[in-house]
Order: sequence, then C-alpha cells, then structure tokens
Amino acid sequence: MKPRKPLGPLFDELNKQGFNGRLPLYRVVRVDFRAVGQRGLCESLTKTIKIARYLTDEEARGTLLHEMCHIEGGNHGKRFIARLKRLRDAREQWIQEWAQKEIELYENPPSSTIWQEMRDRIDDIALVRPEWKWRDVWRWIGREFGYLEEDLDRRHERIRRRWEKRRQEEIREEARARAIEGGNSHGRD
Ligand SMILES: [Zn+2]
Repeated sequence: MKPRKPLGPLFDELNKQGFNGRLPLYRVVRVDFRAVGQRGLCESLTKTIKIARYLTDEEARGTLLHEMCHIEGGNHGKRFIARLKRLRDAREQWIQEWAQKEIELYENPPSSTIWQEMRDRIDDIALVRPEWKWRDVWRWIGREFGYLEEDLDRRHERIRRRWEKRRQEEIREEARARAIEGGNSHGRD
C-alpha cells in the first residue's frame, strides 16, 4: 500500500483554502471504524477528527473537508449547508465541485414516502437475513433505490440505525423460538 499523506498539514491547508483559517485547530487521526461504511467523525469534545483508514488520499481529503464543516457547524442542518455553500466559492476547483455535490446530497433530504419504502425493505431483509452485514444491505437497497452505495450510506444514517435495531430484534426472536423448540423436543423427564 502507498504511504498515506499525513492529514494534519492538510487540515491547516483546507482551513486556509476553505474557511479563511478561522476554524479552531483539530487533531486528525486515521482509525478503523467499527461501523461498515463510516468515513469520518468530528468530535468537538476532544477536538479530534477521525478519518477511516481505508479511504484513499482523495476520498480522505473530501471526508476531512466534510468533517471540518461540522466544527461548530452542527449536524447536517442549515449551518452545515451554509458552510458548504461558502466552500463553493473557494478558489480551488476540486473544492467547488466537491461542495456542489455535498449540497445536492444534504440539501434535499429524501421524501417521507421513500423513507417509508426503505424502512419496509429493511424490515423485510431483517426478517429473512438478520445475519447480513450492513454492507450487504447497503448494496441491496442502494441498487433498488438507485443510489450510489456510498451516497446511501452518507445520506441515510438513520436507515443504518433502523437496520441494526431490526436485525437485533430478529436475532433475539430467533434465539427465543429456538429455545422454546429445544425445550419441547427434550420434553420433561
Ligand atoms: Zn456529516
């Protein structure tokens, strides 16, 4: 594997290019997230930005910029989007293009009908395939609803939470059913 570019200096560079150097200094570290598909995390308490180790330099750069928009920028709400809009005016072309894509992703949240349909599909899959990993579900749903998989993952954090909850329920339910069955077949002595 190619040695990865250090992200600390990149933080300073992006701070100048995109935020007039106004963001407070955060430490940037590469980590292995437990959740599949998670790319980054911005922790205000420890002033740390975590970037998934598996990302290429180019992906890490965009993810870092995304996490930097979370610094005092809240969740994916108005402040966050206002930051993205300012980034569209950055001098660097890749930042402009990146910001435009992000705006499209976050400015128009999916309609409640689509959300409802996705939930139903998640519930169906959990019922028959609770052992599936999020990545499997992600591919399936992404294909069905016409999302790029990574967009799905970023746009629909709550669909992932729904999946984890439903599959745990199904797994527990299965275990309970098996316990009852086991009890019956052995009978009383
Ligand atoms: Zn985010």
